[in-house]
Amino acid sequence: MQFEILIPRADLERRARELATAIAPPADGAPPVVVAVLEGARPFADLLCRHLPGRPSWQGIRASSYGDGTVSRGAVAVQGEEQLEVRGRTVLLVEDIVDTGRTVQRIRESLFARGAVAVQVATLLSKPARRVVPVVLEHVGFEVPDAFVIGFGMDAAGCYRDLPYVAIHPTEGGSRSA
Ligand code: 5GP
Repeated sequence: MQFEILIPRADLERRARELATAIAPPADGAPPVVVAVLEGARPFADLLCRHLPGRPSWQGIRASSYGDGTVSRGAVAVQGEEQLEVRGRTVLLVEDIVDTGRTVQRIRESLFARGAVAVQVATLLSKPARRVVPVVLEHVGFEVPDAFVIGFGMDAAGCYRDLPYVAIHPTEGGSRSA
C-alpha cells in the first residue's frame, strides 16, 4: 500500500538532533533517566539518545488506553513503572505522539508519585486538535493534523511500525494503544 508521507526520514533525523540539543541537562549535572513509552517511541528514543550528551540508554514502559471500540474513554493502564528507579532524579519521558494527553498525564503523575524531582516530556509528534487534558510538553518534534499516522514506530493494528517515515493512514480510524 502507498501512503502519503507526512514527515520524511531526513526531517525526523534533523528534528531529533535539534531536540537533543535543546534538552537541557538536569540542574544536578546527573544524566536524566530516559523512559520511552513502548512500542511506539522506540525509534525516536534511539535517535534522541544517540544525540544527547553522554548517549544515555533508555528504559521502556508500556501504556494502553481502554475504551469502547476505537474511542478511548480515558483509562490508561501502564506496565513496567515499578522497575524504574526515579527517586531524586530528573526523568525525560519520550513519547511517539501525544493525542488526548491522557497517557502523558498519567505517567507524569506516577513518576512524581515515585519520587522523580522533575519530568520533561519529549514527544516526536503532537496532535493539539485532539487534546482533552491540557498537558505541558517541553519538547515537541512536529505538530500534526487530526489524522491517524503510522510509521517510525507507530502502528495501525500492529503493522507499519518499521516504515522509515511518518505517513497518514488513509482509512484507520484510530487504534489508541501505544
Ligand atoms: P493519548 O493518551 O495522548 O490520547 O494517546 C497516546 C497514544 O495513543 C500514543 O502513544 C499512541 O500510541 C496512540 N496514538 C494516538 N494517535 C495516534 C496516531 O495517529 N497513530 C498511531 N499509530 N497511534 C496513535
